[in-house]
Amino acid sequence: MTKNNQYGGLDTFKLIAALLVICIHTSPLTTFSANADFLLTRIIARIAVPFFLMVTGFFILPPYLFASSRDRLPLMRFLKKVVFLYAVAIIIYWPVNLYAGQFKGLDVADVIRLVLFDGTFYHLWYLPAVILGALMVFLLSRKLSFQAVMVVSLFLYGIGLMGDSYFGAISGVPVLATAYDAMFQVFSYTRNGLFYAPVFLTMGAWFAHSPQTGGRKKSAAGFALSILLMTIEGFVLHYTGWQRHDSMYVALLPCMYFLYQLVMVWDRKPNPFLRTISTWIYIIHPLFIVVVRGTAKVTGLVDILVRNSLIHYLAVAVLSVLFAVLVAKLSFLKKQKRFQKGRAWIELDRAALRHNVYALRALLPDGCELLPAVKTNAYGHGAVLISQELNRLGVNAFCVATVYEGAKLRKNRVKGTILVLGYTHPSDFSLLCRYKLTQTVLDLAYAQLLDQYGKKISVHVKIDTGMHRLGERSEKTEEIIRIFQCKNLKIEGVFTHLCVAGDPSPKSTEYTHIQTKAFYDIIAELSQRGFPCPKKHIVSSDGLLYYPELAENYARVGIALYGLLSSRADLKRCGISLEPVLSIKARIAMVKDLFQGEAAGYGLQFVASQDSRIAVVAIGYGDGIPRSLSCGVGSVLIQGIKAPIVGQICMDQMLVDISDIPNVKSGDIAVIIGQSGNEKITACDLAEQDGTISNEILSCLGERLERLLI
Ligand SMILES: *Cc1c(COP(=O)(O)O)cnc(C)c1O
Repeated sequence: MTKNNQYGGLDTFKLIAALLVICIHTSPLTTFSANADFLLTRIIARIAVPFFLMVTGFFILPPYLFASSRDRLPLMRFLKKVVFLYAVAIIIYWPVNLYAGQFKGLDVADVIRLVLFDGTFYHLWYLPAVILGALMVFLLSRKLSFQAVMVVSLFLYGIGLMGDSYFGAISGVPVLATAYDAMFQVFSYTRNGLFYAPVFLTMGAWFAHSPQTGGRKKSAAGFALSILLMTIEGFVLHYTGWQRHDSMYVALLPCMYFLYQLVMVWDRKPNPFLRTISTWIYIIHPLFIVVVRGTAKVTGLVDILVRNSLIHYLAVAVLSVLFAVLVAKLSFLKKQKRFQKGRAWIELDRAALRHNVYALRALLPDGCELLPAVKTNAYGHGAVLISQELNRLGVNAFCVATVYEGAKLRKNRVKGTILVLGYTHPSDFSLLCRYKLTQTVLDLAYAQLLDQYGKKISVHVKIDTGMHRLGERSEKTEEIIRIFQCKNLKIEGVFTHLCVAGDPSPKSTEYTHIQTKAFYDIIAELSQRGFPCPKKHIVSSDGLLYYPELAENYARVGIALYGLLSSRADLKRCGISLEPVLSIKARIAMVKDLFQGEAAGYGLQFVASQDSRIAVVAIGYGDGIPRSLSCGVGSVLIQGIKAPIVGQICMDQMLVDISDIPNVKSGDIAVIIGQSGNEKITACDLAEQDGTISNEILSCLGERLERLLI
């Protein structure tokens, strides 16, 4: 893993890729040199569309390829979006199609061919290709391992090559020529969802699963070499006349591999805005080609606007970008409105959660899975929303603190193992069975209680190796053996908990070694006595970060999954990039002017030292905002500016000083945790001000706050 954010680079390169696609369709260098233009548009720019495909594979396909997720929702959601976009695009280009007479005399077969493969306008083939390609990879992943899917995709790409740049190789072989002729009755190019898209989609997913970082220099060298090879390949094929089309090259595969490596380590801020405009540039630029040409004709500027290929390109590019920015602005405004709530709410960043899942998965040794801690309402985030989303990301095991938390997840159709880490009273043992929950065995006496219940109960046995909280003491071998002899216990796991794994001091490191040795000793003893241990687990967030080799079968990650660690210093030291999932926002109820010397709030703790303006923010300690942030200790963000909390925080609201922020009005939004403009407040900041750890801040967040996944 690198320290760099993985998405910022992707967002920025998407924009570059979109501009390269405009090159393909406008040939900006023809006026100057045919060869230069061939190099730019038929070779270099050919990296653009595979890049889009890889990004799609990166975000959508890993759960299916690597975790055999059965939850189709993320795929369906994605496909729905593309289908909608495709429908919009077809409608946008319909008038142009009609004007150009392209829809004359089509039969049903033609329509199917156009819609499924070629696209109704020359660039729109990409949308059915990404749909078909993603479906293909998904279906293949049902039956095959990732490696096998990759081999099949490569094979399909090979077939595609022979119908594209390498057509000359097969056109002389009658059988093959006939076969390809038959194929070209169905689609005009092999560059489509069947032959072209799968390999790039699969490669993208591979990057998400195990970031293929090779070091910036090596990636750059690999990319440069591949581009060089592709240039030679392209020109040779071009001049031998083998090319039927020029989208697919052999060297394109290594090119994309190294390019993606490079973009992954490109240190850029994530930018959803760039993401959206790239899509719209892609969709709209052919329309602006028509517009620029039309305008040139009408105004008599053909020499400048069309015959000068570079100016032509720039005109199309500028108009497309402007249009895309406009569309993106409008859609962001609309989205923002949809996600804003009435009083005070929590926003959960789906992309950040996914990022953290992938980042943490990358640390897991083979055979190890995440067992996220979603106790205490998923550290205040909302256990149901988070667990359902984790299910979609292929996570199929969870731990909670209480049996009721487990039952609530089951009632909301959360799938997989749910381990109850804490004490369950015997009167609630029935819930363990009813909701298929796995109980932790706290010690021998507790095991006997569970055994007496009379029904089979799934359990993990906890061993106390030195934290001296729950668990049978590791040196009590006989007691532990007797736990294993209980008839009604279905022992599915054995675990322990480390208590100083996050502390790098030699003393703590030593203690962690003592703990793990005690754990492995008892495991060895058990298996010698004929009780082989099923699943083993040791680490939580800190353990996984600093002792990934101890992760065994499960990593019980909590705080890191939410993009945080206990303190800012921990976060800095851990060496991987995590993104906070949660933001808290609240409405400003009203704005009030205070005259110098007037006081406000309970105990009149705030006294205006000059004429001031304060805002009443509709959130308080009843929602989990620590009262210790009162009287200037904490602040909120309004319009990207810090507004100090003044006076005592109340149960349902608090006062902030907005004397320095112009134009604040009732209904505006204050950010308590999260980003606003260039300013950011994290749960770690609040924890520091409150003298605690971020875990406590988060887990105290009130039930009353609405939670939204965004
Ligand atoms: C809460 C908890 C975890 C998760 O801890 P984090 O530090 O948040 O990763 C893991 N194991 C046990 C036993 C826990 O109680």
